[in-house]
Amino acid sequence: MIRFQQVSKAYRGGRQALQKVDFHLGKGEMAFLTGHSGAGKSTLLKLIAAVERPSDGRIFFNDHDITRIDSHQIPFLRRHIGMIFQDHRLLMDRTVFDNVALPLQIAQSPAGDVKRRVSAALDKVGLLDKAQCLPIQLSGGEQQRVGIARAVVNKPLVVLADEPTGNLDADLSQQMMGLFAEFNRVGVSVLMATHDTSLLSRHSYRRLELHQGSLREVTYGA
Ligand code: ADP
Ligand code: ADP
Repeated sequence: MIRFQQVSKAYRGGRQALQKVDFHLGKGEMAFLTGHSGAGKSTLLKLIAAVERPSDGRIFFNDHDITRIDSHQIPFLRRHIGMIFQDHRLLMDRTVFDNVALPLQIAQSPAGDVKRRVSAALDKVGLLDKAQCLPIQLSGGEQQRVGIARAVVNKPLVVLADEPTGNLDADLSQQMMGLFAEFNRVGVSVLMATHDTSLLSRHSYRRLELHQGSLREVTYGA
């Protein structure tokens, strides 16, 4: 599903964020992306979604070479990717429903489809009864679940999550992991960046470990 071949990324100003990174994440596979702050986790996720461009190497997504993807092709790539952030990035002046509907609206889905799929996504994260609320009326954990519903409403092939449990307590983090595991069970590939050691110690998913931009080892859990 995702393949990196000798991928390096240097930011302008010379900062080397990734160095010759090689890995493959299979269809339906779930993995943690670990490493200290500044190790390159966000950069790696951004390269997959073509938010950033690699300086060297090649990147494949679903057997398409996206290394030098045209900017007008990027929306088509992103249709297959659900992104989840630590700070959920909801639009605070729109309802929960409208936030989750955004990716479908960008893809110009018919209104009937939007209603059905947003309801299904909200149901999946247990927030169907909050559809008409504004994000400010929800707890932190609920806001994060809205972000998850928005990420999966398009039925993406891959979910990329960047420290999704960073602002949540242990119980809510566990709940979040349960949701990812469910998506994974229905065949969605999940790559989750985290340095939450308690989460890592509880789950035996594959681990991709970044150390100052190098992917040092790939192990299969404890
Ligand atoms: P992580 O997500 O593991 O904390 P990042 O991918 O955010 O790591 O950062 C990797 C390195 O790249 C860090 O040294 C960071 O300062 C640098 N970096 C990240 N984004 C940029 C940017 N837009 N411009 C310049 N340097 C950046
Ligand atoms: P390529 O020749 O670049 O491998 P195609 O010509 O088959 O790709 O498709 C054109 C573009 O459409 C691709 O570069 C890719 O950005 C996008 N695309 C189409 N389908 C998919 C998909 N299932 N996953 C990812 N990108 C896709």
